[in-house]
Amino acid sequence: MARYKKNTRMCIACRERADKHELLRFNKRKDGAVTLDSDGKSEGRGIYLHKKRECIAKLKKKKALYALLKEAGVDELAEEWND
Ligand SMILES: [Zn+2]
Repeated sequence: MARYKKNTRMCIACRERADKHELLRFNKRKDGAVTLDSDGKSEGRGIYLHKKRECIAKLKKKKALYALLKEAGVDELAEEWND
């Protein structure tokens, strides 16, 4: 069984764990709004997503989640990814 390293987080789209640095972090505030967390220091619950087009595609099937991350600009970010 694989041992998880300390800084792994679960991608919300594919549910696989990855190192924090491979994931995009969004922050869900108490009022329910989701924002991109660029410095990783915001308060609230973190939502993590691989920086992969594959995971964007999976995310789009989870409509409620996608709607939240869309508000935070996930589509614009994804345009810069190559894989
Ligand atoms: Zn993923």
